[in-house]
Amino acid sequence: MTAQLIDGNALSRQLRSEVAQRAAALTARGHQPGLAVILVGEDPASAVYVRNKVKACEDSGVRSIFEKYDADLSEAALLARIEALNADPTVHGILVQMPLPKHIDPHKVIEAIATSKDVDGYSVLSAGELMAGLEGFRPCTPYGSMKLIESTGQSIKGKHAVVIGRSNTVGKPMALLLLLQANATVTVTHSGTPDLGYHTRQADIVVAAVGRANTLTADMVKPGAIVIDVGINRKADGKLCGDVDFDGVKEVAGWITPVPGGVGPMTITMLLVNTIEAAERTAAR
Ligand code: NAP
Repeated sequence: MTAQLIDGNALSRQLRSEVAQRAAALTARGHQPGLAVILVGEDPASAVYVRNKVKACEDSGVRSIFEKYDADLSEAALLARIEALNADPTVHGILVQMPLPKHIDPHKVIEAIATSKDVDGYSVLSAGELMAGLEGFRPCTPYGSMKLIESTGQSIKGKHAVVIGRSNTVGKPMALLLLLQANATVTVTHSGTPDLGYHTRQADIVVAAVGRANTLTADMVKPGAIVIDVGINRKADGKLCGDVDFDGVKEVAGWITPVPGGVGPMTITMLLVNTIEAAERTAAR
């Protein structure tokens, strides 16, 4: 059996065109959506991520407010800037690119962002809202992974999903979305889980978010399963790969995301979707 490819680039394009339409409608009513993106320091990878986010905003009609600060910016100054953005009615989402320089506490910074503007969905309050099934912002990578699963057209309700990994950014919110939003039956595994394959072989849906190539191999997958590969790893030849042995697993799974071109493009797309949602909520008030 050869799995169907779940094309994250194609789904991203479709969702971004919907974002652009919603942004245009909001702008026409005098509420152009605005996303503030803050970069502190010179980390080259962060600079690329931020550039991509700002460009994605521009392409979709979302106003980006890009602020770059030197690495020696004080924590107090950053918190004061966030407070000002919280109070700015033209800013609907605030994103502070991680990692921050060592002298700045990332938790303090994330918690300083107003929950109504926490479009990355990483604050404790946002996590609590997700847990309680309230109308918070879903973290972008798990949210995008849910969209990819939904794009298969398969019913998820009651299905057995296995999430490999339990980070606060991916694994835990992914498990919550599958459980609370999609009514799946969820198993969460981690580095202490003995015999990972025992769990994954029973799964209708597997989401791998570990950061280690070949964590999921063909012998660990139930025929016809949906496989979502969140991992990003660099091979010896410099090319990217995920956590899933793509060539082997595609012969067993029913659907599979590639790396690159699967979850990756969806993450920025869902940031735009969250920003639009924030702006629509403000406009509706
Ligand atoms: P992380 O914080 O390092 O978490 C990795 C998780 O994997 C941990 O919960 C760990 O368990 C678990 N794990 C390690 N070895 C395992 C094993 N043998 N079996 C089962 N679980 C195991 O990483 P993360 O931030 O969640 O990121 C995971 C991957 O996704 C990385 O490759 C990252 O680059 C990628 N990622 C991609 C995107 C995207 O946009 N595509 C976004 C975010 C992250 P313990 O908790 O027991 O240590």
